[in-house]
Amino acid sequence: LAQSARLYTEEDPVVILSSDSLKQTVLNSSSAWLLQFYSSWCGHCIQYSPTWKALAGDVKDWAQAIQIGVVDCAHEKNFDICKEFGIHFYPTFRYFKAHDTTNDYGKTYRGADRELQTVRQLMVNFLQNHTKHDWPVGCPPLDPARSFRGKLGMSEKILSLMGKKTEFYTAVIVEDEDSYIGREVILDLMPYEGLAVKRALSSDKLLMEKLGISSVPSAYLFYPNSMHTVMNVQKRLRFFFSSFLKLLPGVHRKQSTSSLQHPQPGNNGQGTQVEWKEFEKSKVYMADLESGLHYLLRVELATHKTLEGEELKTFKDFVTVVAKLFPGHQSVVKLLETLLEWLVSLPLEKIPYDAILDLVNNKMRISGLYLSEQVQWVGCQGSSVALRGYPCSLWTLFHVLTVQAANRPDALANTGFEDDLLAVLQTMRRYIGTFFGCQECGKHFEEMAQESLNQVKSVDDAVLWLWRKHNQVNARLTGSMSEDPMFPKTQWPTPDLCPTCHEEQEGLHVWNEQMVLAFLRQHYGASNISPKYSS
Ligand code: FAD
Repeated sequence: LAQSARLYTEEDPVVILSSDSLKQTVLNSSSAWLLQFYSSWCGHCIQYSPTWKALAGDVKDWAQAIQIGVVDCAHEKNFDICKEFGIHFYPTFRYFKAHDTTNDYGKTYRGADRELQTVRQLMVNFLQNHTKHDWPVGCPPLDPARSFRGKLGMSEKILSLMGKKTEFYTAVIVEDEDSYIGREVILDLMPYEGLAVKRALSSDKLLMEKLGISSVPSAYLFYPNSMHTVMNVQKRLRFFFSSFLKLLPGVHRKQSTSSLQHPQPGNNGQGTQVEWKEFEKSKVYMADLESGLHYLLRVELATHKTLEGEELKTFKDFVTVVAKLFPGHQSVVKLLETLLEWLVSLPLEKIPYDAILDLVNNKMRISGLYLSEQVQWVGCQGSSVALRGYPCSLWTLFHVLTVQAANRPDALANTGFEDDLLAVLQTMRRYIGTFFGCQECGKHFEEMAQESLNQVKSVDDAVLWLWRKHNQVNARLTGSMSEDPMFPKTQWPTPDLCPTCHEEQEGLHVWNEQMVLAFLRQHYGASNISPKYSS
């Protein structure tokens, strides 16, 4: 089958199954499964694939309880297995219970409604059909806490938390019986430790009264230090509740076994202590931008003995864009401008990198132009040296530059970039592809650029494009080794930073892109860059 006809790839959050993996994977699995058997030539399947991918992305964190997979029945190697499973029509949806040892072929979902929200609720119902004997490993209880006449029910257990010190947070979502938010939030938080999420019903008058809740859905939070209060979210939506809980201090994504030790802030992993710097998430720090530039110029590029051809052009364009758009200290901007003049005036086709270093480190210093040689990560500091730092500062730098290009349309006059809407993004693309030490990152970034950079039609689009792609990377890296447990990868900006950026449509979280743009222009704008900790 031609590569182009594949509806799903490894980049998608679905598990791609085939004849040699299907049975081993879904039968007697520790989680339940929902599979779509499709055919890559079926028009319905093609049209439906974006919904299926969106669903799989939406419930990615539920994987310990239930996973989403696909089987392509048009692929020759799957002909026999699709026949064995009795698949006659495409798409066919089958679900498989956890721990099912009978060699069965799953249950078919025949409903005509295949909307994302309906299927997601079906997944929740299906999970609740498990008994205590086959309950998926790692899936917390989904039934509501209830008071039983006279007996000590779960809700009394909840109430008994009042004023008690505990080892973790307990969040209670109080809602109507037919609401799914509580169960969805419980499942969303499954890969996180440091808290327990429970569901209680609005019909439980005693609980409602004791917690002082008068409208639902509401969430009530018991802190480890015995404090307790109604959870303060701007909108009472699943995404707001889940996001609030994931960002609580002390709540972390569980680590894979290889990185189980929890690094402490300030410990750089080599036994020496780096002082933790307090910072605000709502600010951008000049120290990060300067440290990033320092690393880029003196470490990353310095691994190249000479620059020539495309490399030299990429470097010149990078220095041009940064010199014109970097909203930094006078001495740093002047240093970049001087470097640019020098590069432009040189007739050489090949420049030894030592000459650039000599200029930046020695010659310019004499005239008071100076870029700090100290690495000071602030908004980009990680809980260990191996985490965050430089790549974080590069993202930050390029977000700042796209926003500067949008806020100051004339800044690139007389550079050859004046009419180029893509000046910053193309420069970033070429820098990342040519010099960024993480080659895999460069490859991924190039794929994203090839796919959609041509859709950028304005400087505002450029700001949004980079934001969207950065979130795509965040989604891919959730739970990966490069995730700092203290700074979990999230879809950004989180509701606490920008409540108006988030909305819900038919049960699916959606961005209000106009609000996102306004937020990005403010967040990465020159007046939001804090000089704290920068030299
Ligand atoms: P980062 O993702 O570095 O983000 C830095 C800061 O930017 C955040 O703290 C937040 O304040 C803000 N932010 C977050 N999301 C957005 C957004 N959507 N829009 C605007 N601002 C946002 N690592 C890999 O393992 N695999 C890869 O393929 C990969 N590709 C990369 C491609 C590029 C171009 C770059 C620069 C880095 C890439 N990395 C990759 C590194 C990875 O993306 C992170 O930079 C690194 O793991 C550090 O993460 P962090 O928690 O500091 O946050």
